[in-house]
Amino acid sequence: MAEEGSSPSQGTAVKSKPGGDGGPSGGDDDAARAVEQTKKGAAGPRPGDRPTVSDYEIATYYFDLACERLGLPDDVREVMRTPYREMSVQIPVRMTDGTMRVYSGYRVQHNGARGPYKGGVRYHPHADIEEVRALAMLMTWKTALVNIPYGGAKGGVNCPGDQLDKRELQTISRSFMDKVEKILGPNRDIMAPDLNTDAQIMAWMMDEYGKLNGYTPAIVTGKPIELEGSYGREAAVGRGLVYLFREAAPNLGLSPPESTCVVQGFGNVGYHTASIMHQLGVKLVGVSDVNGAIRNELGIEPAELRQFIREGGKLPEYEHGEAIDPEELLEVECDVFIPAALGGMIREENAERIACKVVLEGANSPTTPAADRILEEKGIYVIPDLLANAGGVVVSYFEWVQNMQHFRWDEREINDKLGSIMRHAFREVSALAKRRELSLRIACWELGIERVVDAARTRGYI
Ligand code: NAD
Repeated sequence: MAEEGSSPSQGTAVKSKPGGDGGPSGGDDDAARAVEQTKKGAAGPRPGDRPTVSDYEIATYYFDLACERLGLPDDVREVMRTPYREMSVQIPVRMTDGTMRVYSGYRVQHNGARGPYKGGVRYHPHADIEEVRALAMLMTWKTALVNIPYGGAKGGVNCPGDQLDKRELQTISRSFMDKVEKILGPNRDIMAPDLNTDAQIMAWMMDEYGKLNGYTPAIVTGKPIELEGSYGREAAVGRGLVYLFREAAPNLGLSPPESTCVVQGFGNVGYHTASIMHQLGVKLVGVSDVNGAIRNELGIEPAELRQFIREGGKLPEYEHGEAIDPEELLEVECDVFIPAALGGMIREENAERIACKVVLEGANSPTTPAADRILEEKGIYVIPDLLANAGGVVVSYFEWVQNMQHFRWDEREINDKLGSIMRHAFREVSALAKRRELSLRIACWELGIERVVDAARTRGYI
């Protein structure tokens, strides 16, 4: 068994921020708000803006809060907070217009106590070492929460992935893989798609890794079906979200065929969630992407909208919807609001206006701590990111298991297995939340951290 993560002293030490911005030591409400107060005055979130509260601040806020509640000693906290290993690489690219650009690529392996590091790679101008570090930490608790044998990692390249042509994307993907492959491996660290990365990018990465190490499909997940990808992986995050909505709905007095939803972000996660919700009869009454937002009380057909965009249309110009300001999307009345874009988009300034009964978090860290308080005060039921969007890594795990055996399960088997893992995790988290009188979010953090601490103790390195 590879010993990744077995000794924290082997990794590159990083500066941690004990207490972090808005850490819990100063009290609950105050601490949550403190994260945002220092950032006031920033413009409202226009598509492409950097969020006023970073993913790192959100992650460390909840980490500190959960550790405080669990009474973890400081030294254990430090091991759990800091990543095992971080890598930053230079990616020079000759663009199609002849200019030269230099991007930065990152891979952060947060904790490997429970298994090989696992996590997506995103191509976005906001990607920097702090954001990737935060997302890697989330993966550690997420894989523990759904109880699959992985640690947590994340990758990112600070390029505008949605604006590059195919040749540029291929060059960046191969170059990134060339530079980080030494710390990867099917028993060491396995990448997957995330923001602005997809099955094609995974195929190039697998091919590049194969040139250096021989045919190794298990080096990345989220691959195309014809290259040992798994049935059900592309829709897995959306399907997982919908399984949880169905599980929670009866207790909330909601019935899918009579429900409505709004989706923020219409990429892999947003589209598939909207589409599977649509199959259940849930009406999509508002949707946005990087170009803008639309609403329609009569319902928007997700597959038709996707087709319109694939043919070159811009979402706000879709004829079966009324174009609205992206900030107004939160005010569109609905039963379920599904953030499926960037982190930090539900914030103190706009949370009050959100007009839904349930927030089902598809994106990572979409809600700042202060906004979370406001949602709680408004009586909105939040199914948090750590649990809600875990369907992607669960089916990535199935893909990896199939690849290790060069074997394939059919889609029905995948979806059934995904459903039972998601439902089981939801019940475990709900029971813990009830027992300890916590929100689902804090229960997720506590359960995830406890499982990783247990594994680290059993291995003998804390
Ligand atoms: P994607 O690149 O496929 O789609 C992102 C969507 O968000 C696009 O429609 C884009 O136009 C839109 N968007 C970007 N900026 C926006 C803005 N400011 N306002 C509104 N919309 C905006 O990415 P994805 O894979 O769907 O990931 C979305 C989120 O889900 C991310 O937070 C990601 O970390 C998270 N997530 C993804 C996976 C996965 O397997 N893909 C798994 C778990 C979580």
